[in-house]
Amino acid sequence: MNRIEKELAESLPQPKGPFTDAEALELLMAYRKDPSNVPCPLCGPDTVEVLAFIEPEIDPNGFASVTNPEGEYAAALYCHQCFRAVGILAGTGKEA
Ligand SMILES: [Zn+2]
Repeated sequence: MNRIEKELAESLPQPKGPFTDAEALELLMAYRKDPSNVPCPLCGPDTVEVLAFIEPEIDPNGFASVTNPEGEYAAALYCHQCFRAVGILAGTGKEA
């Protein structure tokens, strides 16, 4: 059972598209600076929510496993204003 997929399907509108690579990088930098304050490159602050922490490796079927925000993990971010979602590699397991 894929919890993320289920929650996305039930509680959120369909994302209207992906973030660009440049935007994803901005989100990543902001997240690493302060995970509780990640502004959307397009919409500004207070619109991006961390939906879930997922395994950095997503299997070929597109399933992502929920994990804890420790070591290597990815964060699924969603902007409530432009309705776009992105997964960023949030943890490296090496940084202090
Ligand atoms: Zn946005």
